[in-house]
Amino acid sequence: MPASAQHSLKPEFHSQALKAPAALVQPAAYQSSDSYVEPVIGNEAVFTDEQGNISPVSYTAGCCDSCTSGCADVCCDPCCGDCCDPCCGGCNSCCDGCGLFGGLIKPSERCFDMISPISNPLFFEDPRTLTEARLIYANHNIPNSQPLLQGGNVQYWALQLRAALTERLSIIATKDGYIDIHANNPALPDTQGWADVALGLKYNLIRDPSTQFLLSGGVVYEIDMGAHQVFQGNGDGEFHLFLTGYKRVFGGVNWISASGFRLPTDTNARSQMWYWSNHWDYEVFEDLFALFEVNWFHWMRSGDALPGVNFEGGDLFNLGSGSVAGNDIVTAAVGGRYKFTDHAILGVGWEFPLTHRRDLLHDRLATTAISDQNAGIMSNHTFFGYWFTFTPPDHPAIRLSGLFLCASPAEPFVYRSFPQYQENDKVILVMQRNHTETDLDETIGRVEGLGLKANVIVGTERTVIAAVGDERDGYKETLEACPGVAEVLPILAPYKMASIEVQPERTVIRAGNFEVGGGRIGVIAGPCSVECQEQILASAQAVKKQGATALRGGAFKPRTSPYSFQGLKEEGLKLLASAREATGLAIVTEVVATDDVELVGKYADILQIGARNMQNYRLLEAVGNQVRPVLLKRGPSATLDELLLAAEYILDAGNPNVMLCERGIRTFEAHTRFTLPLASVAWLQARTHLPVVVDPSHGTGHTDLVPRMASASIAAGADGLIMEVHPDPSRALSDGYQSLNFDQFAKTMEMCRRVADAVDREL
Ligand code: PEP
Ligand code: MN
Repeated sequence: MPASAQHSLKPEFHSQALKAPAALVQPAAYQSSDSYVEPVIGNEAVFTDEQGNISPVSYTAGCCDSCTSGCADVCCDPCCGDCCDPCCGGCNSCCDGCGLFGGLIKPSERCFDMISPISNPLFFEDPRTLTEARLIYANHNIPNSQPLLQGGNVQYWALQLRAALTERLSIIATKDGYIDIHANNPALPDTQGWADVALGLKYNLIRDPSTQFLLSGGVVYEIDMGAHQVFQGNGDGEFHLFLTGYKRVFGGVNWISASGFRLPTDTNARSQMWYWSNHWDYEVFEDLFALFEVNWFHWMRSGDALPGVNFEGGDLFNLGSGSVAGNDIVTAAVGGRYKFTDHAILGVGWEFPLTHRRDLLHDRLATTAISDQNAGIMSNHTFFGYWFTFTPPDHPAIRLSGLFLCASPAEPFVYRSFPQYQENDKVILVMQRNHTETDLDETIGRVEGLGLKANVIVGTERTVIAAVGDERDGYKETLEACPGVAEVLPILAPYKMASIEVQPERTVIRAGNFEVGGGRIGVIAGPCSVECQEQILASAQAVKKQGATALRGGAFKPRTSPYSFQGLKEEGLKLLASAREATGLAIVTEVVATDDVELVGKYADILQIGARNMQNYRLLEAVGNQVRPVLLKRGPSATLDELLLAAEYILDAGNPNVMLCERGIRTFEAHTRFTLPLASVAWLQARTHLPVVVDPSHGTGHTDLVPRMASASIAAGADGLIMEVHPDPSRALSDGYQSLNFDQFAKTMEMCRRVADAVDREL
């Protein structure tokens, strides 16, 4: 039966033949590969059913999916459209293009993952440098035993604002808003009015993300501009001096501790107070934090405004009472916060005194909505709040109050500064022809001193250093002044190390007798899968006889169906190694998992990364960290830029020997298994110095199309070919319908040789 005719066979399921390599002697119906799902290629998967209907399946990957980091904890900042690494680079570093008002206001601190305190809301300051709007509502219940007010409640709602001016310095507006007092004493009418306004600065004195330790100090001035009827605007205001620190303690518990003084300018009008507040939180479920807080308030000095009065007004009021010096109140709070997004957090806390002394605070319920950085009112979340109070008929002493809050991911008032992508943030330093080794070493040192990674490429003409790293302002000038540097040029392509701008000379890769990228066309041939000793040995001898210099054969097979033959694994690798011993051919075989890289590298000369794994970045890094050359196949749904960026992962990890392989892509065309675009060969060669190999077997999926497409690849300028050859394709365990038998391979090679001659290449 001709191989192409097999295509019309209805696939049968022969579990015996497919699962047990021993059953190879049985004629095995091959599993059709026409029903084919490419699982995770770029942002889309493609499903093709057995009738050849193609349906794209999209998924959205978080930016962290493509983030690489040596550290365990990687954070994502959606405003940057990028990933950043809290422990290595500093989370804020990627956000240089972000912030508000053209970068005047910087983004919030992202390297400390705790939640803000909720009790003592006017003084207990989060030590982080934040850019946020914080909507606060607090309902204080007044003890019924309170001699003047005889119970009742105080409602306070406010909008605290914080804005980061630098990574460490922020402006904080901690008190403002509106106060509503309702006393049970029938002689006292309800009163409402504006609160004082407090404005100040906070500075990170110590900031160490690696040990999760942060210490900040600050000063705030409360301006006496509030309404007298709600006990605001007394005297000439007051200063608040504070220190606040954060430490991650045992078992992932976050601890914030703050202490400060209220120091009135007019000591008659207001009392002096000291406080010490502590907050502990723990992430109970993802993004849901439980918190516990304790606050100690101590009045150091009485005022003179209310002689003989022995209670004070807590954190909200400063009554200037005459007999409060020495009083202490300790409160505790329980509650939690939920992070809806990185930029929107809701919190609820209930605070109550632990001491006998309560003054005005029987207990208090506080809710806060924190809308961080570009979010909230200004960006990707809009908060709607509705405040209600309800007094049941016939029960005038009871007042129920509450706040409905909802956050919507709507965009109505979007203000947002979009990141400015700068493609020329990587540079090449072209060294002078007569530079010395010392010049080179010193220049490398300076590049690394700027936090950039220096990759040295020694060419026959020139030596260049590709400086790849985070964007830094002004480093071009600094680098131009380095010894022995002729010029500093931006690398414009998104791929850097793979780019022809970095290395104009073509990369030549050699493994034994196999060579690709030089004048000679490298031919890799052999079966899709290693099936048994006879099969692989016969294939090796046949392809060698026709001029192939490398033997292909999968030992670990990435199959579309879990029921298809998965390869002989290490046994297959050993068979490949024995074929190399017998023929001297270099071995090319696929590695499908990071854990197998070492094992496959023990037997193979060239590691193949299959189409399904082109964007498996961990695997790319793993093959980048070892010495064997890599054959990187294009994902059927990947663009050529994505292919080059995948190669970049391998190059960046330290392995310069990468060959790219065009193996066909998904299109609407269903007559061939894939569509083989040979223009990509010419396109790639104009942009990269890496050798380009073509796979006409997978690229067409039909044996009878392979010879012409193989020779066409050479005409298009391919540096190499990889072809599937099997002693008896009709019995192949995988991809028999696209494999050449020995005779067909000989004819294909003959055709290729004639084309190679015509284009002045050697085969
Ligand atoms: C193969 O070479 O056998 C193979 C599975 O190729 P691809 O990854 O291109 O599908
Ligand atoms: Mn195959």
